[in-house]
Amino acid sequence: MILENKTAIITGATRGIGRAIAIRFAKEGCNVAFCGRSRNAAMEAVEQELNDIYSALSAENPALNIKAKGYAVDVADMEQAQAFVKEVLADFGHVDILVNNAGITDDAAVKRMTEEQMDRVMHTNLGSVFCMTKAIQPAMWKQGHGSIINIGSVVGVAGNYNQANYAASKAAIVGFSKSCAKEFAARNIRVNVVAPGFVQTEMTADIPKELMDTWCSRIPMKRPGTTDEVAQACVFLASDMCPYITSVLLPVCGGMEDA
Ligand code: NDP
Repeated sequence: MILENKTAIITGATRGIGRAIAIRFAKEGCNVAFCGRSRNAAMEAVEQELNDIYSALSAENPALNIKAKGYAVDVADMEQAQAFVKEVLADFGHVDILVNNAGITDDAAVKRMTEEQMDRVMHTNLGSVFCMTKAIQPAMWKQGHGSIINIGSVVGVAGNYNQANYAASKAAIVGFSKSCAKEFAARNIRVNVVAPGFVQTEMTADIPKELMDTWCSRIPMKRPGTTDEVAQACVFLASDMCPYITSVLLPVCGGMEDA
């Protein structure tokens, strides 16, 4: 198991891509601290799912001591992000990996987009990455290692109709990540971006079938990606298999153009 003895924080893991990352990490022997904005049935279900994976792993190897815990946090709020990291450090002792996955959309054409829509998406998508990175940085700096993975999007490179706010937030994540990669490299903290293409989750559930078919026809692999395919890229970047990879934008998009 390539993440054994490691602890990860994964934001926005009550469903979708975050949940898939949490499951993959758990299967690789990683302790998982994850969050959503509230403690609800979805959070409890993911917690149960992860602890079931650990029970199965521990049955094979009783020496393993791994756990998962869900936290209710708005990671775009600096005070909550700081308190979250403090609590995870108290619960788990150390954090080796941070996956900034939480994100939202609020689509509209620019001519109809309100300032509120622009601010909300920037605040959640970029603000959460800033708050969580700032919160975890002192602990990673002190321990002299860490892997931070920020979930961007191919839309942040290529742009998209009705998603100028979302595309801007995801493009900004790239600039932020590359700056952090430079600032943190001296302490062996790697910062990379995983940029999914089109992945079927609740976020994309409302897209009409005809539009989805048109998009898929433009993807060289002719299908959407799965949440697990994104999770596998995150396992690689989180692991010790790539100690010299930092400041990278890794598209997981079936070869979509412009990515
Ligand atoms: P979902 O909407 O399915 O899940 C989003 C998750 O983020 C939920 O767990 C939600 O939990 C959580 N979340 C949202 N805001 C906050 C917040 N402020 N604080 C804490 N948690 C929060 O999204 P996806 O799984 O589809 O997307 C995950 C990431 O991948 C996003 O960053 C998205 O932009 C990116 N992405 C997705 C693509 C796709 O095609 N699906 C393509 C490219 C990128 P809760 O509601 O309980 O708070």
